[in-house]
Amino acid sequence: MGEKISIVVPCYNEENVLPAFFQEIRKVIARMPDLDFEFMLIDDGSSDGTLDVIKAYARQNEIVKYISFSRNFGKEAAIYAGLRNASGNYVVIMDADLQDPPALLPEMYRHVSGGEYDSVATRRVTRQGEPRMRSFFARQFYKIMNRLSSVDMVDGARDYRIMNRRFVNALLEMGEYNRFSKGLFGWVGYRTKWLEYKNIERIAGETKWSFWSLVRYSIEGIIAFSTAPLVISAVFGVIMSGLSMVSLIAIVVRKMMFGDPVMGWASIISVILLIGGLLLVTLGIIGQYLAKTYLEVKHRPIYICGETNLPDSDGAIPCK
Ligand code: UDP
Ligand code: MG
Repeated sequence: MGEKISIVVPCYNEENVLPAFFQEIRKVIARMPDLDFEFMLIDDGSSDGTLDVIKAYARQNEIVKYISFSRNFGKEAAIYAGLRNASGNYVVIMDADLQDPPALLPEMYRHVSGGEYDSVATRRVTRQGEPRMRSFFARQFYKIMNRLSSVDMVDGARDYRIMNRRFVNALLEMGEYNRFSKGLFGWVGYRTKWLEYKNIERIAGETKWSFWSLVRYSIEGIIAFSTAPLVISAVFGVIMSGLSMVSLIAIVVRKMMFGDPVMGWASIISVILLIGGLLLVTLGIIGQYLAKTYLEVKHRPIYICGETNLPDSDGAIPCK
C-alpha cells in the first residue's frame, strides 16, 4: 500500500466555501495518483449548514472523515482534534477558505517525502487585501515575539503545513490546553522547509478574526511562549527601588544641610500614582500567567466531540 496523506481542515461556518474547496482539492489529488488520501474535517461548532455539507460529502466518499464539536472551541482545538485522529503517514493542515492554496500540496509532499525535512510550512510574503493597520500590528507582534521568546516564529507563517509522523506525534505530546500552534510548531524543532506564496483572499464567507480577537490571540501567544514579561516587571521593580533609594538619600542630605520645609506635595502624589500604576500593571501580568496556569491545571479536554463518523473515537473524548 502506498503512503497516506491526511488532510485536516478546520471548518467554522464554511458552508459557502466547502464546495469550492472540494472541487479544488480533488484536482490536486488527481495529480498525485500513487498516494492514498484521507480528509479529516473538523466542524468547530458551526451554526450554519457546514455539518450537513460535510456529511453529504462523507456519504459519497468514505475517505471523508469528520468530527463535529459540541460547540465552537476555536481553530487551535480543531487542529488538535484533526492531528489526533489522522491516520496518515503525513498530515496536512489546510484552511477551508482556499487561502492555503491546495495547488502547493504536491510540492510540499515532494520535499517532506524525500526525508530531508520533517515538515514543510508556508508563509505568505505579502499581506495584500488585509487592512493596513492589521498588517502593521501583525508585523510588530512577530518582532516582539521573536525578541521575547526563544521559539522561532516566522512573520507571515500560515498554519498550512505538511508534517511527517514523528512531527505530528511530537505535537500531540504537547497536550496543553492553551494551544498556540504557531509557537508549538517551532518548539517541536526538527527540520522545516519554508515555501513562500503571495497572499490570497478568502473566496467566500468572512474571516472569523476581528482586530481585538487578534490582539487577544497575540497576548496569548506571548504568555504561552515567553516568561519575559515577568522578568521585565521584576527589572522595572529593581530600577524603581534603586531610583527611590537615591532620591531618599538626596532628600535626607538636603534636610540636614538646609532644613527643608515641607513642600512638593504634588510631586509626591505623582510618584505615588506612578508606583501604584506600575504595581497594577505588574499584578496584571502576573495575573495573566496565573489565569493560564489555572486553566491548565484543570486538565479540561481541549474539545468535546458531538458527532463523528470515525469508527472508534479515542475514548478520552466523549463522543456520541
Ligand atoms: N476556524 C475554526 N474555528 C474558529 C475560527 C476559524 O475552525 O473558531 C477555521 C475556519 O473555518 C478556517 C480557518 O480556521 O478554515 C481560518 O479561519 P479564517 O479564514 O477566519 O482566518 P484567516 O484566514 O482570516 O486568518
Ligand atoms: Mg482565511
